[in-house]
Amino acid sequence: MMAEDKLQFDNIHTQTIESEWLQEKSVTLDVLRLDKVHPVISGNKWFKLKYYLQDMTARGFTELGTFGGAYSNHIVATAYAACLSGIKSRGFIRGEEPALLSPTLQQAKAYEMQLQFISRADYQNKEIIKNMHPQLYWINEGGYGMAGAKGASEILSFAYHLTKYSHIVCATGTGTMLAGICESALAHQQVIGISVLKNNFSITREVNALTQKRNFIILHDYHFGGYAKHPPALINFIQHTWHAHQLPLDIVYTSKTFYATRELVMRNDIKEGSKILMIHSGGLQGNLSLPAGVLPFL
Ligand SMILES: *Cc1c(COP(=O)(O)O)cnc(C)c1O
Repeated sequence: MMAEDKLQFDNIHTQTIESEWLQEKSVTLDVLRLDKVHPVISGNKWFKLKYYLQDMTARGFTELGTFGGAYSNHIVATAYAACLSGIKSRGFIRGEEPALLSPTLQQAKAYEMQLQFISRADYQNKEIIKNMHPQLYWINEGGYGMAGAKGASEILSFAYHLTKYSHIVCATGTGTMLAGICESALAHQQVIGISVLKNNFSITREVNALTQKRNFIILHDYHFGGYAKHPPALINFIQHTWHAHQLPLDIVYTSKTFYATRELVMRNDIKEGSKILMIHSGGLQGNLSLPAGVLPFL
């Protein structure tokens, strides 16, 4: 792996958003730019993975296995983290092997992940696949689990003046990052998770399994049609946000979270005078699934 291909934690900073919809309500909004860690590796995925890698090494495993789709942030981040630690990795990818690999999978391969394509039917039965490879250390799709939440609990240490915020907003897929944020949020803070899956109401139970804290709510109205769905209204919103704030957003997680934040402020669901921290969890590489030129950045 190239020396210049290192994660740049020094690049993490908070960006203050200035806009009329904030000013009108005397609300402040800072965005914690985890996307600045690396152009391809999602900020939050690295945090979620690090304790799994420690655990597997401690338990004597030399190769890991995990699951994901062709544009999965988790797959490429896992390939990277394993490669950096000198650990072999195998990615079990949903669907038939395409003639041309997605940019995400090409990158995972460059990080020496061995790719194995699994039919959509077989992909439903992950336990069978796991049982076929008992020598692998298995990491759940998306890094769901206690070790993932423990890693994610370190994210807020990158927010300067954490005490000043009244609300923390983040995207919610498996809920692992949300659980970690809840662990490290301060007593006066409310954590708001924006679910990016449609009608995934069991997510609250899955978050509760990872943290004792009950300082969060999860909102289900901002999926824009479902996981990874990106109708024109969302694309327009991403373009608008870039032009207004030079804030690059991804189509799966952070655009929906930023949109939700704006709506919560405009509707007074987050009340006047609040001080919000939104986590930009990265994921920009997922925008490569769009045709070139659709977005003005990346
Ligand atoms: C995976 C991911 C999330 C969701 O994290 P969970 O811990 O699965 O809820 C949010 N944002 C980005 C950019 C991601 O890649």
